[in-house]
Amino acid sequence: MYLYNSATRKKELFVPNHPDIVKMYTCGPTVYHYAHIGNLRSYIMEDVLEKYLRYVGYNVKRVMNITDVGHLTSDADEGEDKMLKGARREHKTVLEIAKYYTDAFFDDCAKLNIKTPDVVEPATNCIDEYIKIISKLMDTGYAYFAGGNVYFDTSKLDRYYIFNDFKEDDLNVGVREGVEEDTNKRNKNDFVLWFTKSKFEDQALKWDSPWGVGYPGWHIECSGISMKHLGDDLDIHCGGIDNAFPHHTNEIAQSESYLGHKWCNWWMHVLHLNTTSGKMSKSSGEFLTVSLLEQKGYDPLAYRFFCLQSHYRKSLVFSWENLDNAQGAYNKLIARIAALKPEDGPVDESVVAALKEKFCAALDNDLNTSLGVTALYDVLKAKANDATKLAAIGSFDQVLSLRLLEKAAAKREELKKQTVAAGEFTIISESGESDAEIEAQIRARQDAKKAKNFAEADRIRDALKAAGVELTDIPHGAKWKRV
Ligand code: AMP
Ligand code: ZN
Repeated sequence: MYLYNSATRKKELFVPNHPDIVKMYTCGPTVYHYAHIGNLRSYIMEDVLEKYLRYVGYNVKRVMNITDVGHLTSDADEGEDKMLKGARREHKTVLEIAKYYTDAFFDDCAKLNIKTPDVVEPATNCIDEYIKIISKLMDTGYAYFAGGNVYFDTSKLDRYYIFNDFKEDDLNVGVREGVEEDTNKRNKNDFVLWFTKSKFEDQALKWDSPWGVGYPGWHIECSGISMKHLGDDLDIHCGGIDNAFPHHTNEIAQSESYLGHKWCNWWMHVLHLNTTSGKMSKSSGEFLTVSLLEQKGYDPLAYRFFCLQSHYRKSLVFSWENLDNAQGAYNKLIARIAALKPEDGPVDESVVAALKEKFCAALDNDLNTSLGVTALYDVLKAKANDATKLAAIGSFDQVLSLRLLEKAAAKREELKKQTVAAGEFTIISESGESDAEIEAQIRARQDAKKAKNFAEADRIRDALKAAGVELTDIPHGAKWKRV
């Protein structure tokens, strides 16, 4: 498999460090509010990566943090504490907020059929890990104490910027307009490892440490949690593109200084989902959540389908119109799969293997899910019996996770029940499209058959055929498709 590595800016052949396991780490949510569907784009694509690695036979151990402390509104240690802000907004405690939004996050993930990582660790669980790392960084001179906080000294590194080639002048980007500069920092991009002197006197969660009572910075969380569960090395680290700087850059700085060797081989960054007016936000404009999609009548899996139709390394624009199109295409896809007959077998394994090859070629090429979806449509067009097609679709859906077989089976049942209950004549379009003109012709043919006017019935069938529509009689109805 070739996977783009943001650290080398190249697609590289993926080879894990250890033959028996792929160690994968994902930056988790900051649980001060609901996730927006942009955040969830990142989690969907990371889910596809994990599932595809398993699909091709790797044993994966995936770890994710839950940020419940230390993340300020600016990623560069300035602004307000996000958790405190959430608690104040809702007149609750920080712990109540963390519990409520962690549960909400996993509910959203379940609706999007995102698997829960093997290990999910709240940042507040691992204080000892952070203290261990920070103590060594202090001992080895990579960290310093100033104004009550412990900072990482970025000037000690030969190469700080990993993901972008900043010029030294750009060091100033750490200080944003309207945000107070932290005068304790020796260098602009030094970052806080441990806060004791906080401007948030009402900081709810504090722990004892060698540097005084306080709490960890945001970046140290991911290094500490990853090392606790995955040890001294990592195969793939994922996150949204905004995490690349400063968060991942700082993770690398502190982890490699602590370990004394390379830490993580692959960095996978998912580009953003934007609205037609720009950046997605939780505080201004429409707050786009999974619940909002449901309230408006969309299936969350139609949103997953929408994400899969584009490549994770391209930014994606969300609009209701785009989602309508995805929902329509998803419904049609389910209808086409529902028209396949599971009893039309046996499964031809060699055909399934050939279809899988195309699917894997797409995903092996830096997780090209849109071509993976094309491979799915190719199954429907393949020269194979229905059971074989269903087997291939079920196989691909282990990765795509669109619940295709389950939804198609439900649709089949629904159609069967309607037919049997009403004793009615059911017309099924194999492609999922509806066409009033064609349906009227099929009913006219049925009426002719009932009246024993077989010549008229045959004439209608022939006329439809001439118009490129093929009919198949089924119990209590007829199926049609364009040929
Ligand atoms: P947060 O809860 O803010 O820490 O973000 C959770 C994840 O969502 C991180 O991996 C972010 O990089 C990612 N993310 C944030 N905004 C977007 C967006 N608009 N599109 C895709 N991913 C995003
Ligand atoms: Zn992280």
